[in-house]
Amino acid sequence: MPGDPSPRFSPRSLAVQALGRIDEPSRALVPPIHLSTTYIRDPDNQYRSGNCYGRPDNPSVREAEAIIAMLEAAPAAMLFGSGMSAATALFLSLEPGAHVIVPEVMYWGLRAWLVIDARAFGLLVEPVDASRPEAIAAALRPGATRLVWLETPANPLWTITDIAAVAALAHAAGALVAVDSTCATPVFTRPLALGADLVMHAATKYLNGHSDVVAGALVTAREDDLWARVRRTRTVLGQILGPLETYLLIRGMRTLDLRVRAAAASAMELALRLSDHPALAAVLYPGLEGHPGHAVAARQMVGGFGGMLSIRLRAGAAAAIATAARTRLWKRATSLGGVESLIEHRASVEGPDSPCPSDLLRLSVGIEDVEDLSADIDQALRAP
Ligand SMILES: *Cc1c(COP(=O)(O)O)cnc(C)c1O
Repeated sequence: MPGDPSPRFSPRSLAVQALGRIDEPSRALVPPIHLSTTYIRDPDNQYRSGNCYGRPDNPSVREAEAIIAMLEAAPAAMLFGSGMSAATALFLSLEPGAHVIVPEVMYWGLRAWLVIDARAFGLLVEPVDASRPEAIAAALRPGATRLVWLETPANPLWTITDIAAVAALAHAAGALVAVDSTCATPVFTRPLALGADLVMHAATKYLNGHSDVVAGALVTAREDDLWARVRRTRTVLGQILGPLETYLLIRGMRTLDLRVRAAAASAMELALRLSDHPALAAVLYPGLEGHPGHAVAARQMVGGFGGMLSIRLRAGAAAAIATAARTRLWKRATSLGGVESLIEHRASVEGPDSPCPSDLLRLSVGIEDVEDLSADIDQALRAP
């Protein structure tokens, strides 16, 4: 088909051109946004266009899904109205009574849903130290464990999980592996190539990259029965992303490769500079040789360690909060993965059950001049 992507081109090239698709009726380089909620039936009552109604599917959404599937080298992707809706759609598509293993260190919002709410949907949720494959091996219950959920690097300590090791263990016990790869991005890690069965992205973060869309994605290694149930869950719960947001996401993904490589290079530079800062007790970044997950990260992350790091202040929680109040270029806000750098006192967000230390500041490194970022965090840390 003319305009179809060629496997000769790299993911970076294909994403820049949104797969090179041209709108045939207009010959437009930038595809139109399909806003229609309904579609004309053929005279014989069929829907040969593949479109019937806006809640199950949308042509603009399918374009974005094709780009995300290409980025993850996957047969299919599905877009949702948020990262949380993507993740919960997967959990809600498992059979009631399913045992699921989840990390102790993970995105707090999903951890809260899993620990507090998932029980009501019949899920048995078991948190483990996911940095240790032995801990996952011990928790696996052959026949009962349906899913092992991973996040690597994991919020907010940037804990690393060996995806290939866990996939081998999980598959031997008959369980699937899903990876929240939001912070790794498809540029640095391809979980499916490492043996994972599903990948989730909070597309709100790096995929969109401009802090102006809330969106989520699931990617699958196989279009199987579970994938069909996830699609049904999205349809009946009305979790599909809107077409306007989808358009912004497609535009954001054109520069994904450039943005995340720039952010990761700056994050590495800042992590090294901050490593011997007198105000800091620790710098948590998987690119640093002293990070407990460094060896695994160096193997499974190709080309960079991501744009996220955390720092722990010697002077404690109040000093951390005061430091965040003194930055001028770093913006004091939650979220991550945008072009602008953000700083956040994470324990204030995560609540009392979080493994996040109270002296920790999470840094989402954007694409500003790294010298400006470095000077600004340094003056904030040094001020009385
Ligand atoms: C933000 C985030 C989520 C949740 O995504 P939303 O779009 O906010 O629902 C899940 N996982 C990670 C790692 C995130 O950073």
